[in-house]
Amino acid sequence: MSASAGWDTIIVGAGAAGCVLANRLTASGRHKVLVLEAGGPDNRLWIKVPAGFTRTMLDPAVGWGYENAPAPETADRAIPCPRGRVIGGSSSINGHLYVRGQADDYADWVAQGASGWGWDDVLPYFRRAETRAGGDATVRGVEGPLQVTDPRMQHPLCEAFISGMQSLGEPRNPDYNRGDQRGAGYYQYLMQNGRRWSAADAYLRPALSRPNLAIHTHAHVTRVVFEGQRAVGVEYRQGGALHVARAASEVILAGGAINSPQLLQLSGVGNPALLAQHGIGVVHAAPGVGENLVDHYAVRVASRVRGVGSLNERTHFPRLVLEVLKYMVARRGVLASAVAHAYGFVCVAPEGGRPDLQLLFAPASFQGGKMGRAKMETAPGMTCGVQQLRPLSRGHVRIRSADPFASPVIQPNYLKHEADVATLIAGIRFMRKLYASTPLARHVAHESWPGADVASDAQLVEFARTTGATVYHPVGSCRMGSDADAPVDAQTLRVKGLAGLRVIDASVMPSMVSGNTYATTIMIAEKGADLVLADQG
Ligand SMILES: Cc1cc2nc3c(=O)[nH]c(=O)nc-3n(C[C@H](O)[C@H](O)[C@H](O)COP(=O)(O)OP(=O)(O)OC[C@H]3O[C@@H](n4cnc5c(N)ncnc54)[C@H](O)[C@@H]3O)c2cc1C
Repeated sequence: MSASAGWDTIIVGAGAAGCVLANRLTASGRHKVLVLEAGGPDNRLWIKVPAGFTRTMLDPAVGWGYENAPAPETADRAIPCPRGRVIGGSSSINGHLYVRGQADDYADWVAQGASGWGWDDVLPYFRRAETRAGGDATVRGVEGPLQVTDPRMQHPLCEAFISGMQSLGEPRNPDYNRGDQRGAGYYQYLMQNGRRWSAADAYLRPALSRPNLAIHTHAHVTRVVFEGQRAVGVEYRQGGALHVARAASEVILAGGAINSPQLLQLSGVGNPALLAQHGIGVVHAAPGVGENLVDHYAVRVASRVRGVGSLNERTHFPRLVLEVLKYMVARRGVLASAVAHAYGFVCVAPEGGRPDLQLLFAPASFQGGKMGRAKMETAPGMTCGVQQLRPLSRGHVRIRSADPFASPVIQPNYLKHEADVATLIAGIRFMRKLYASTPLARHVAHESWPGADVASDAQLVEFARTTGATVYHPVGSCRMGSDADAPVDAQTLRVKGLAGLRVIDASVMPSMVSGNTYATTIMIAEKGADLVLADQG
């Protein structure tokens, strides 16, 4: 076993949060930082090409290959749970959408004991992180590392979708990232000049030349090393050998919502009963580690299209050749597009209130209704993903064995809470109303997925349970809060009861935000970096 020392801080994971931390913590030149990433470089073509998302998301060369544990509420299926294992982490394989959530989400966090994380507290970090040309400068950033851009294509079906929403009383909202999401419009993308703009592009690459930053790839951290109750380093496997790296100041876990709790448990920080079951000695009893997992779960409603083309026809020979040329010459066309083009944030709760449903619309349709996870169909089609914004079901991440290379049990318990089922079914019905609205109806030949014969509540529930899938947003498994069960302290992001150890990634969210989770993770890491720097002087 080799040993290295001389680092002030060790960051586990060069994913979304890890890249932010690597940049911010080394900017002054005063702190020596080592980043350990289990995956390899992010130099594959399909990582850079936006439409490559459909190819990389389940590619074992850049991902962990996780599956959610089967559960009766989702027909005992092992639903894939893609997570990036590559420089940039999941930001190198994600769907490019930039969504901050609602101001009220952060009020919810404060109410759950995360004081200091209200909308007014976090807004400066959202702004610091991004460059958004032409936005409202009081809420949008103008000189941050993230490039937040508009789609390079506005398809007529998207316009019909937005007009359809307006015909149902929903406003056309030019910017859903101001704290109040309600309405419809085009998604904002994390792209620059028709290419993916990952956290590695935004934060890591600009810092790579700093002499006080080192990054080791294919370095899988297997446990945190403790001396008493203080984390003093990590053990990791790289090139078939075991290494130890020591940190003078602290270890920061940025492994994401699945791997950070797993690593804590492997290191003796977790529920004592679980640790005992796998023969792991308790360093610190923290039963909340790995609990409170929450994820978005979506179903898709698709339609055959008439009177206008869709993207389907452009992804098959011979028109695909044209698209490839268009991309090579101008970085435009189908290959420069994310899967979801237009958005809707609506409230379907009978009592009204904040939006509780997100719509992800694509002027394209996919085999088996699998939006973005299967080849596009050949006949023209359109699809809308329907997801409840703030699920109440909670699950867990628990180690399966003491083997650090074994995947943990990931159980999000989708649709366990009856309210989640009710919102999803109301969402499908809303979507059907939208397809029937005048602007969209003239383009609907017939509903192709699930099909008009799936009509009763019971049939829709069955459809949701048997065909829904993750929207790739697991969070909350090392939640921050002030109650005794919350494993992470909200003021410092330190693991409670231990010294020299923090968690800074998507796992610390106390509850789900209303939308895709990348922007919020970046915000957490921006604020987390300030907390670390304040402590390190
Ligand atoms: C397919 C997909 C599509 C998505 N689409 C969107 C979207 O369009 N918009 C959006 O907002 N969000 C999206 N997300 C979610 C978003 O990408 C995540 O919320 C965000 O990346 C989480 O950041 P993180 O830093 O917590 O974890 P990650 O970005 O996953 O980074 C964790 C990193 O830690 C590394 N790591 C883990 N364990 C170890 C270990 N033991 N040793 C060393 N390294 C380790 C991993 O390899 C990885 O690089 C998507 C996610 C996926 C997977």
